[in-house]
Amino acid sequence: MLNIEQSLDLIETWLDKKGFVLCKSKKKTIQDEVDFERKVVFLSLRSSPINQLYSLLHECGHVIIRGRKDYKIKYKSHYKVSEEALTPTMQSSVEEVEEEINAWREGENLCNKLSIDINTDEYYKYASRWVMGYIVIASLGNEHLLPIVKDALEEEDIQEKKDIKVDICKVLDNAHNPCYYELIPKPEP
Ligand SMILES: [Zn+2]
Repeated sequence: MLNIEQSLDLIETWLDKKGFVLCKSKKKTIQDEVDFERKVVFLSLRSSPINQLYSLLHECGHVIIRGRKDYKIKYKSHYKVSEEALTPTMQSSVEEVEEEINAWREGENLCNKLSIDINTDEYYKYASRWVMGYIVIASLGNEHLLPIVKDALEEEDIQEKKDIKVDICKVLDNAHNPCYYELIPKPEP
């Protein structure tokens, strides 16, 4: 049976095959998320190791969902709203919640595929905290973001986060020749 560290390594290898880089960080401005433009998966090391594993599986779920040809059709409104930074509509919000739930489901599928052992009850218990956050935001609006998320969205933090992302890209550019974008092409707009 794989331990948590081995499981995380296995997922990192899976991501690598998909062309994604895993960036783990203790910085408080780094949250678990996927930068699809740069093909970087961010994972916060501030949560417990088991929660890191659960979160990483979920982020891989997003990679799986968005890697499918029908993504832009299935999640049309949500895709348009996020791409064009529009005000969310009822339809886009529902699709966002749907994607969140499905990303947890896909994370569980990946886990089975890679023969990683997790306690699914605990996994979905953890997942439901996050999904409920999206449900609250979808129904009440952004001003109801959990305080921790709000903190991370302070202006200077956003700048710090941008800087971190730029640093990562510099590292990638140096590691790969030719440059990052030539090596890993940007997805079609
Ligand atoms: Zn998510």
